[in-house]
Amino acid sequence: MVYEDVPSPEPGEKQVVVQVNWSSICGTDLHIYLGEFKDRVTHPRILGHEFSGVVKAVGKGVTRVKPGDRVVILGAGRLGPENSR
Ligand SMILES: [Zn+2]
Repeated sequence: MVYEDVPSPEPGEKQVVVQVNWSSICGTDLHIYLGEFKDRVTHPRILGHEFSGVVKAVGKGVTRVKPGDRVVILGAGRLGPENSR
């Protein structure tokens, strides 16, 4: 496991970039960490799909939130440096 900063992405259409302030580590994350979901999970992986933070940027077509909004995300479907923001 590595703790490091990653480049901030640009949001795609209907995507939001969130500056994560807090994140949980749930049972799913532990299974991923233990390598039990190799058929469903690609690596490298940023763990923690339940988190809160502040909207940093929004992509085209996003209407429900704006930069600066505080948000809670539960069960984000796609995680990783390329699409988890
Ligand atoms: Zn979870």
